[in-house]
Amino acid sequence: GSAMDAVTAAIMVLEDDPNFNAGKGAVFTADGFNELDASIMDGSTKKAGAVAMARHIKNPILGARLVMDKTWHTLVAGEGADKLAKENGLEMVDQKYFFTQFRYDALQKAKEKQKLLLDSEKAKKTSLNLHERPYLGTVGAIALDKNGNLAAATSTGGMTNKMTGRIGDSPIIGSGTYADNDSVAVSCTGTGDIYMRVNAAHEVSALYKYKTQDVQKAAEEAVAQVKALGGSGGIISIDKHGHTGFAWTKDKLGMYHGEARLGAKPIVYWPLGEK
Ligand code: ASP
Repeated sequence: GSAMDAVTAAIMVLEDDPNFNAGKGAVFTADGFNELDASIMDGSTKKAGAVAMARHIKNPILGARLVMDKTWHTLVAGEGADKLAKENGLEMVDQKYFFTQFRYDALQKAKEKQKLLLDSEKAKKTSLNLHERPYLGTVGAIALDKNGNLAAATSTGGMTNKMTGRIGDSPIIGSGTYADNDSVAVSCTGTGDIYMRVNAAHEVSALYKYKTQDVQKAAEEAVAQVKALGGSGGIISIDKHGHTGFAWTKDKLGMYHGEARLGAKPIVYWPLGEK
């Protein structure tokens, strides 16, 4: 299949899994809503689509793809995103569908501390209980297909206790998601408000292309820029030759990520250094 279909399929599985901060399991806004952001980009055409602040699309990544495939636009937000999805027959759900107790509790804790929380900042580092693992946050997927086409996609509920109406980096092409067949496909997670200022996803592409850095170095440098502005998070990227670049701001507090290659056993990397 195509890289675009692969990243869409991967994101849908993660959106449907309540452990992740995307689709079912999304974090709450300060006013107790779930507002979902998602984007997708096709490196072969450089077409892209995104939805922001969607409240009723079961799989926001399908909303993003709809924006790309069926409209003149790149980003559609709020009621407009929900309306577009409904009119095009996507599965729509009530806000209740997105509810999970642990995300709701995280909102109460964030309110007590008057803090904006990354989804990964809450749970215990060492717990073996999947639900208590801290790293199950925003989801991203990147792919290179047999035709040499790159694609990237990202989906999130954003940050716990974010202002209602706040839009993060995940639906912003160039900040949270980017794909270009001439360079790399990238998906980001972390302090979105800072990723936007760094234009982090595009930065990986620019470093790769113009500074001829390898994709691992490019990802590390983009993440370092996020860190320098006080942000935290990570980046997954893959270049046009299939080399990957994974980087994050904290040594111990890494990201779950995995790699699947034709003819090879899939690998999952656990954040505490386990493989
Ligand atoms: N980047 C997301 C946002 O700021 C949050 C995350 O990746 O955890 O909305």
